[in-house]
Amino acid sequence: MKPLHDLTVAELAAKLRAREVSAVETARHFLARAKSHESLGAYLAIDEDVTLAQARAADARIAAGETAPLLGVPIAHKDIFVTRDFPSTAGSKMLEGYRSPFDATVVDRLAQAGAVCLGKLNCDEFAMGSSTENSAYRPARNPWDPARVPGGSSGGSAVAVAARLAPAATGTDTGGSIRQPASFCGITGIKPTYGRASRYGMIAFASSLDQAGPMARTAQDCALLLSAMCGPDPDRDSTSLEIAPEDFTRSLGDAIEGLRIGIPREFFGAGLAPDVRQAIDTALAELRKLGARLVEISLPRTELSIPVYYIIAPAEASSNLSRYDGVKFGHRARQYSDLTDMYQKTRAEGFGDEVKRRIMVGTYVLSHGYYDAYYLQAQKIRRMIADDFQQAFTQCDVIAGPVAPTVAWKLGERADDPVANYLADIFTLPASLAGLPGLSVPCGFGAFGLPVGLQLIGNYLAEARLLNVAHRLQQVTDFHQRIPVAVDAVPEVRS
Ligand code: GLN
Repeated sequence: MKPLHDLTVAELAAKLRAREVSAVETARHFLARAKSHESLGAYLAIDEDVTLAQARAADARIAAGETAPLLGVPIAHKDIFVTRDFPSTAGSKMLEGYRSPFDATVVDRLAQAGAVCLGKLNCDEFAMGSSTENSAYRPARNPWDPARVPGGSSGGSAVAVAARLAPAATGTDTGGSIRQPASFCGITGIKPTYGRASRYGMIAFASSLDQAGPMARTAQDCALLLSAMCGPDPDRDSTSLEIAPEDFTRSLGDAIEGLRIGIPREFFGAGLAPDVRQAIDTALAELRKLGARLVEISLPRTELSIPVYYIIAPAEASSNLSRYDGVKFGHRARQYSDLTDMYQKTRAEGFGDEVKRRIMVGTYVLSHGYYDAYYLQAQKIRRMIADDFQQAFTQCDVIAGPVAPTVAWKLGERADDPVANYLADIFTLPASLAGLPGLSVPCGFGAFGLPVGLQLIGNYLAEARLLNVAHRLQQVTDFHQRIPVAVDAVPEVRS
């Protein structure tokens, strides 16, 4: 029999429903693992009493004959979602010890579906970064090699799932933060269409880009979670789509015979590492064997997505983060001479370097005299990037390519080089700027035996199709079942 932590969400939910295992027993098992694997830096907050109380409530619901889809399944949330029962920090000192008076809509919806919360997961400060090294608390470590980054910003989520410290987790993706850590840690993650999931209670980074999504080992598990997470929230998030909740598991297993998969030329240029390219090519060959047809397409403005994103996201961040002024919530400097000095000291102490960098860039591109040259120009190109996708979708049904140009790098290797980090976002940014759904599915291993993810991008609201393509791939491959070194061994920390 497989140990509890090796079961998928679907398997675990079935066992719980059949009362072969209790929610309390399951929660205890994962809490113990989270503790013994603390050196991976996945969790920022754990509270056994809260988790076990939720598990007992789930057991009572099971005993009462309820059949919510995730009843008793433990999951953990990226610390960008606010929660009443756990602290919510966004990986920042600015919010150290902060307690929200309410739960984020996504947290609430998953709880209604029966999920039990194991705790809050590490992330880059305010979700800014791609390695989780920008967490103000500690870096997270890749379970395939603890000397390497797990990706980011949802790095804690990817580590928790890959190391079997949670069967599934939530993440958020503004420019790749679900897809890239999923790729680096060998798990599956999907960022839905912008507006699918409510942003209410998601600590804001760049509001026109931020989206919540699930991270799990299989596409089927992602489909289960995503079905529970999405749905309109008109009173609380005006950008949430007025579309009834959908069952994303319904088309899993459908044939993909004749499906046209677009291969963007620009995703396979000189910047793509040969080991990543090889894994991608092998996965594409598998999809072809399943009956898909590969068609070459072009996304001509792929490179421009970097400057465009790194203008728009900081611009929105500079506005969103102005709320951390030491007055209403979060950190306040201990000593100051007057109000302005209080603001300055509070923000100087509370924010880390990357966040300050983004606030400065964002303020600059929005300032009088530069707005037209930077922000407005970036908005125009953003529209063109979205149009390029619509052009591409006249020739294909889904788009496939790499998630990132390389496998996971070493901790510290790029910590002082923000631009190197920004450039590595090249393949995830286009779908974010267009608001399209994007998924990362394990598709092989590259240099140093590190996982590689295949990115699938769909047209608006095509999540079910993306999940099905990933599911079909997982039916004929076993990359998602391979076990990282840190799962059984308690990792020794080298660097
Ligand atoms: N790496 C990108 C950034 O630093 C994306 C982060 C994200 O999606 N939250 O902004």
